Amino acid sequence: MVMLWSVGIWMRHKSAMAAVEPTVVTQRRTKGSSNGVGSSDETLGQWGRAWEVDWFSLTGVVLLLCLAPFIVFYFIMACDQYQCSVTEPLLDLYEGEGKAIFLSIWDRSPSFTWAAAKIYAIWVSFQVVLYMCLPDVTHKFLPGYVGGVQDGARTPAGLINKYQINGLQSWLITHALWFANAYHFHWFSPTIIFDNWIPLLWCTNILGYAVATFAFVKAYLFPTNAEDCKFTGNFFYNYMMGIEFNPRIGKWFDFKLFFNGRPGIVAWTLINLSYAAKQQELYGQVTNSMILVNVLQAIYVLDFFWNEAWYLKTIDICHDHFGWYLGWGDCVWLPFLYTLQGLYLVYHPVQLSATNAAGVLLLGLVGYYIFRMTNHQKDLFRRSDGNCTIWGRKPAYIECAYSSVDGQRHHSKLMISGFWGVARHLNYTGDLMGSLAYCAACGTGHLLPYFYIVYMTILLVHRCVRDEHRCHSKYGKDWTRYTDAVPYRLLPGVF
Ligand code: NDP
Repeated sequence: MVMLWSVGIWMRHKSAMAAVEPTVVTQRRTKGSSNGVGSSDETLGQWGRAWEVDWFSLTGVVLLLCLAPFIVFYFIMACDQYQCSVTEPLLDLYEGEGKAIFLSIWDRSPSFTWAAAKIYAIWVSFQVVLYMCLPDVTHKFLPGYVGGVQDGARTPAGLINKYQINGLQSWLITHALWFANAYHFHWFSPTIIFDNWIPLLWCTNILGYAVATFAFVKAYLFPTNAEDCKFTGNFFYNYMMGIEFNPRIGKWFDFKLFFNGRPGIVAWTLINLSYAAKQQELYGQVTNSMILVNVLQAIYVLDFFWNEAWYLKTIDICHDHFGWYLGWGDCVWLPFLYTLQGLYLVYHPVQLSATNAAGVLLLGLVGYYIFRMTNHQKDLFRRSDGNCTIWGRKPAYIECAYSSVDGQRHHSKLMISGFWGVARHLNYTGDLMGSLAYCAACGTGHLLPYFYIVYMTILLVHRCVRDEHRCHSKYGKDWTRYTDAVPYRLLPGVF
């Protein structure tokens, strides 16, 4: 998951780092697995957010709460009113009568409409129905796909939640209907998302704030699991970073899984398709850059749903509490800012030369390959406890040990073969290469499409640093042995 957002992530993880030795912990823990993965006995306090808030973090939280919605508004308005120039609105504000310019931008921006509210209500309700009412069947006929009911990672209180993994199925049904409508039924125009984009911004904000507020109140009044709640005593921090770890309604409606994947990530590819349809409508053709953005981002989105069960064990699900940061971020930040390239290409239809298009495609595919294979190698290594083959041979690793607060010693392994022997976070490097490819597809005419790579770089570099801080706290000198063996983080010889 996204960046002013990185400021939030930074605060969250600064908090997590600061909390490596918390004074209070919820209990009910059991022993970890033999390979240390998902161990409940990891150093306590690694999870999620802080128990106490310093003034610095609090200032960041309040700033983020106030500024993030304006950042989204700024980018979308820059496209709507300034042909996607990010500097012109600022220059206008600087050179002109600031307040008057701002009011004029505000006045000219499309407002909330009931038509958009209806579209959004139908969209979210449809995703809820797919999520709640259609148990996964795709895992029964798609070889290698893990769907259906799966276990999540152990929570700080020692629980293991069950999840209905059916994101791939929801994505497939949604997109089948989209294409059936576009090419056959014609119930609505495929440009519907673009045509209602700014009114939809208000609707997504309403849902984002509503869900964050509901989760906040729910944590006090009827938490799903009281032992997994964290209260700092500070209203703003609690509201933003969340109190409940895994808020649910009933047995299956898990807020994190639902809002993390749908409606935002399922919508990602539909939004791009709507942009492509708008290009077709306006210019009579879809440019190769638009096709590249659609294809490369669709690969990334499909990868997410194909590996949805695996994502249950990543930081987003295992460490974060559910508050405004996730609720609003998934509803607003992700769909509006992750799709800026496609939006830009509606205003600036870029037709790349064959060489440039091939270069972008190659960068995107190589990036995706590195990202996927690196994640896959670690998953395979950890699942088989090192009894597997990586690049044709048995993987080398460093044996490491760590202690849990009850004083018990546990053992784990850090692989130094395959991509994990080249650098310590090549999965992030691959992710960044893919992100750069989306941006490069838009040419060099404007800065706006490059927001994504700047954001992802901040996000993943920071993630890398604080993950290593966590690993160093966990493994001590064994981690140092590992960093001696694999000295670089993202780019061998550079960083
Ligand atoms: P990783 O999948 O890189 O997991 C890091 C953990 O793996 C470490 O904490 C450690 O955990 C273990 N580990 C580290 N080194 C080794 C090793 N050599 N051998 C075995 N285990 C090791 O981190 P994330 O969860 O952050 O990322 C998952 C994916 O999600 C990445 O590909 C990332 O690019 C992507 N992502 C995308 C985002 C987006 O917005 N598009 C946002 C964030 C992530 P342990 O304690 O078990 O030893």
